[in-house]
Amino acid sequence: MNDIAMDAKTTLERLGLDAADVTGGSLKVMSPIDRRVLGELRELPVGEVGTVTARALAAFRAWRAVPAPRRGELVRLFGEELRMAKGDLGALVSWEAGKIISEGLGEVQEMIDICDFAVGLSRQLYGLTIASERPGHRMMEIWHPIGPVGVISAFNFPVAVWSWNAAISLVCGNPVIWKPSERTPLTALACRELLGRALARFGDAPEDLVQTMIGGADLGRALAESRDVPVISATGSTRMGRAVAPVVAARFGKCILELGGNNAMIVCPSADLEMAVRAIVFSAVGTAGQRCTTLRRLIVHSSIMDDLAARLRAAYAELPIGHPLDEGTLIGPLIDGEAGNAMTAALETAKAEGGSVFGGARVGDGVPSGGTYMQPALVEMPHQSETVKTETFAPILYMMRYDDFAEALEIQNDVPQGLSSCVFTLNMREAERFLSMNGSDCGIANVNIGPSGAEIGGAFGGEKETGGGRESGSDAWKSYMRRQTSTVNYSAELPLAQGVRFG
Ligand code: NAD
Repeated sequence: MNDIAMDAKTTLERLGLDAADVTGGSLKVMSPIDRRVLGELRELPVGEVGTVTARALAAFRAWRAVPAPRRGELVRLFGEELRMAKGDLGALVSWEAGKIISEGLGEVQEMIDICDFAVGLSRQLYGLTIASERPGHRMMEIWHPIGPVGVISAFNFPVAVWSWNAAISLVCGNPVIWKPSERTPLTALACRELLGRALARFGDAPEDLVQTMIGGADLGRALAESRDVPVISATGSTRMGRAVAPVVAARFGKCILELGGNNAMIVCPSADLEMAVRAIVFSAVGTAGQRCTTLRRLIVHSSIMDDLAARLRAAYAELPIGHPLDEGTLIGPLIDGEAGNAMTAALETAKAEGGSVFGGARVGDGVPSGGTYMQPALVEMPHQSETVKTETFAPILYMMRYDDFAEALEIQNDVPQGLSSCVFTLNMREAERFLSMNGSDCGIANVNIGPSGAEIGGAFGGEKETGGGRESGSDAWKSYMRRQTSTVNYSAELPLAQGVRFG
């Protein structure tokens, strides 16, 4: 890994982006750290989306015929480029999304990990062989490339989410069209640059295999409408998913939706409280509460509530808030002032609903001016109100009591979202019940681990209003391919299935 430049301009230059790439356009990119302008980028006119998708289709015709392990070689080279540029890309994530540097680097590490995973996968796109009911017949499943994959991504994981989709799509034989968040387009340009280096080393990949469309929601909408793009992978708010899903469904395209979460932890009487406190603090305030998997609800057994609340208040009082590139900072800025206002408004409503609030104030001292820095908030709630059931994308942790484990599970599941969940317990019955069909209804359910910071090896995603999509590891690759069931008759007869006689 190279060293980290402490200014944005050097970081951009080291990533191959010079003034001509990042000036002269209409999309102003401001750093959440201090609202300095990082770039003014040229936006793609929405009328040009059709040209982009047509180019992707042309690339598809060539790329799908390249043997999958050879496709994997491109992803392996991209992983190498990411390793070399990890420090710079991680720092740019900090400048553009406001993450602390360790999390910026962690995001790039996640990209490297998914590249490694995808390289292995490129030799494992297996189908099944199925017993045929007809003599002299063989039945099988074959997985084929499906076509261009459209990726719409959110500001809070500006590069990792794209890489989950891109690395898997590429080994599956599909071109990629990326519509990054309009709030984090610079990291997208940097990724394009790094992928360009890998493509140059690879040599013979088709033109336009991976394209990036810089601009706002209108580009995302046009991508969702395009019949050239059979799969749309959309990460962002539930509001966005509600808009995108029917558009894709209307043309019978496939959607992979990764939407909002409202993640909970149940803390049982037997829990190792010291471990629980560490997990709670990281999951609730890491990334300044702006992860889809951020811990937002704590469901605590009445017998340990006061003890746990006191420990958390002590930990919250010590949290270093400041410039995300400064060593020692654990909490950087929110993405913008609007996010700070949404946090303040949610805390006001929670108070009106009977909540008692600890923290949550704006921070003015010891932080760069211009950014929105907030103290994380702990809110003890008398019950799970509508505000608690709503995802506010900020570091607010609502705490509620329970007396009976079944009641805790009910509270945990009684929200519209279904992304991540966990239980802290040393009681095997509680742990197993939490993971059972009668337990958590989320896509992710952990025991003695917080809800955030998933590994790439598992399938990532959630149920209900989180959208039902799965990305990253396990067999999530199947959503990026089309399945063909094929039967071969090697006999001299023509028996029909189900014993049907015809003529
Ligand atoms: P957002 O919904 O505002 O924007 C996400 C992307 O969707 C952007 O690229 C935006 O331009 C695009 N978009 C918005 N409206 C659109 C429309 N009508 N048609 C097509 N595209 C449209 O989300 P955000 O504020 O950038 O990100 C935060 C949200 O994302 C949170 O709700 C968070 O939970 C969620 N998120 C979910 C996951 C997950 O894996 N489940 C991961 C990261 C973020």
